[in-house]
Amino acid sequence: MNDALEVWIDQELCTGDGICVQYAPEVFELDIDGLAYVKSAEDELLQSPGAVTPVPLPLLQDVVDSVKDCPGDCIHVRRVSDSVEVYGPDAD
Ligand code: SF4
Repeated sequence: MNDALEVWIDQELCTGDGICVQYAPEVFELDIDGLAYVKSAEDELLQSPGAVTPVPLPLLQDVVDSVKDCPGDCIHVRRVSDSVEVYGPDAD
């Protein structure tokens, strides 16, 4: 089974502290509006709110740590296959 994961941020709840960027700068970046956004696999900042990007497997632990320590509780990791959230405020 392919359990590919993807991640998105709810910018409405982001506090802009940058913890996610410290943990996983390959995946997260603060934009000039002071909020965190995800980056594409090509390292491009995806500036539309709620944009989704794949989680590279080697970075999964860094992304999960970001989810756990995110003060806004606004980083969501879900399975690509069925969009079920596996890490984040909506995970079981
Ligand atoms: S850790 Fe959460 S609240 Fe902090 S910048 Fe990242 S997404 Fe925003």
